[in-house]
Amino acid sequence: MDIQHGADEEDSVRTIEHWIAGKTTSGTSERTAAVYDPASGRQQAEVVLATAEDVREAVAAAGEAFSAWSQTSVSARTKILFAFRELVNRHADEIAGLITDEHGKVLSDARGEVQRGLEVVEFASGIASLLKGDYSDQVSTDVDTYSFREPLGVVAGITPFNFPAMVPMWMFPVAIACGNTFVLKPSERDPSASMRLAELWQQAGLPDGVFNVVHGDKVAVDALLDAPEVAAISFVGSTPIARYIHERGTANGKRVQALGGAKNHAIVLPDADLDFAADHLAAASFGSAGERCMAISAAVAVGAAGDRIVEAVNDRARAVRVGAGRDADSEMGPVVTREAQQRIVGLIDAGEAQGGRVTVDGRGFTVPGHEDGFFVGPTVIDAVRPEMDVYREEVFGPVLSVLRTDSVDEAIALINANPYGNGTAIFTSSGEAARRFQRGVHVGMIGINVPVPVPMAFYSFGGWKDSLFGDKHVHGPEGVAFYTRAKVVTARWPHVSHASEASFHFPTSK
Ligand code: NAD
Repeated sequence: MDIQHGADEEDSVRTIEHWIAGKTTSGTSERTAAVYDPASGRQQAEVVLATAEDVREAVAAAGEAFSAWSQTSVSARTKILFAFRELVNRHADEIAGLITDEHGKVLSDARGEVQRGLEVVEFASGIASLLKGDYSDQVSTDVDTYSFREPLGVVAGITPFNFPAMVPMWMFPVAIACGNTFVLKPSERDPSASMRLAELWQQAGLPDGVFNVVHGDKVAVDALLDAPEVAAISFVGSTPIARYIHERGTANGKRVQALGGAKNHAIVLPDADLDFAADHLAAASFGSAGERCMAISAAVAVGAAGDRIVEAVNDRARAVRVGAGRDADSEMGPVVTREAQQRIVGLIDAGEAQGGRVTVDGRGFTVPGHEDGFFVGPTVIDAVRPEMDVYREEVFGPVLSVLRTDSVDEAIALINANPYGNGTAIFTSSGEAARRFQRGVHVGMIGINVPVPVPMAFYSFGGWKDSLFGDKHVHGPEGVAFYTRAKVVTARWPHVSHASEASFHFPTSK
């Protein structure tokens, strides 16, 4: 009997529940999704998938919390943000571990994402300055005008698997600091980091209901898009879903910022330090197994840079230490799921079949002791042309395509012909070429000898074209503008001795 009981326990997996009004709850759904350990390929947990009713409960909790939270003084809100910052900092290694176990990225990379998220919390801790309004004295006789910004109400965040801590932290610290309440729908593939962040918010003194987490898929997302009480939606994920979120959210009268996918190019000019460029290209293409929206997936070698940069990147690609994310020696971990692994391998196959030259091949890659893990080795495909699937599709894996052009202008035109416009970079020692590039590309975030130009928290993050639907980028000043709306007051305090000067013509100043 005892043995049977032990076997049952071993078979059962941990269940990850929602966080609503300061408590965990399994909600009303019978549906769950498997959460894997990508390094071993084994299921390690299941996550409940919310029904529309569960989402309504989370939205109602956030709605109830809004009346008190929006009236809480800016200094009281700031104190909670500072406390949250300290707690996340203290638990950063633990959160990084949760990320590595469910996403697969190496621990140092997971630690880096927590750090970048923390920087947004630090930015939002300065909310008192960020919310300062304007004041104009005596705009007309005895009349003053001033403006200030108010929170929107309940706002929601829908986030992707690839940054389970950082991307939610692009959103909720700013939204909550501005006085909104928040419902997060994280990726169902790696949901644990957001649950730990919810507990830390509570420990920091955030009132229950201000921050809620519902897990789920399209059912939960649609319920958020249709909930009349949700004033704004921030989304980060793939382009088809971003476009859908923007269309349905705005049709329902919501403010929406929907960040989509990417195909980030790095131009390499012959005058660049090619060793420096190759080191950075390899890190930007294969770091986090290429599962970054700012990863470089296309290198554009200009003129004589061509063969030399391919050779140098090949050397770096072969030297990347691939292994389990928890292994301190690993520089690159597995990809997130078996399906992702198969899709990436399929795109390498297509690249080769359509005329690309696979110079470093990550297909069939195995890590001893982790034979069932979702690994793809670093891959370089030379002689890629724009019509090939491996270039047209977002690969989202450790695959660098190399294209060739004869001039920097031709390289800029190639980038501008691509539907995505998230990030791009140039390697050069020419200020003139760099300036032409930064002014000429139709892309939101640009690096000059910096291949992954993710803006600091006090600037805003966002791409152009199919990489962002909506008109506000996330965090930084645009994040504050997104989560608030303006009031402008025109005020007069008439002196008792003043005669009334009311008139029926449109008011003009005197
Ligand atoms: P995804 O689009 O599959 O999922 C994102 C979110 O949408 C998840 O919460 C998911 O549950 C939900 N979702 C998925 N299918 C849905 C549907 N049919 N209807 C409604 N909701 C749905 O993206 P992903 O695979 O989790 O993440 C990778 C993608 O995110 C890549 O395309 C990457 O470029 C992009 N990304 C972009 C940025 C950026 O800043 N632009 C940052 C990170 C990731």
